Amino acid sequence: MWQVLILISVILLVYIISRITKNSNKFISQTSNEIVKCLVCGLNTPVKESINQGKDWFCSKECISRNDI
Ligand SMILES: [Zn+2]
Repeated sequence: MWQVLILISVILLVYIISRITKNSNKFISQTSNEIVKCLVCGLNTPVKESINQGKDWFCSKECISRNDI
């Protein structure tokens, strides 16, 4: 009987772990799909392609150097 209980708990554990990893993947994809506006040229770019400096977002290194001038 205890073997059945162990089997059930293992299945439950795998189910919980898969749910946790699915949720975290969803969270990562949501944040990486976010669109931010470049402070210098106003271009809308995805977060993963943008460069963050403090509160401001830039589409490229060129725009960061232009913002410093
Ligand atoms: Zn820009």
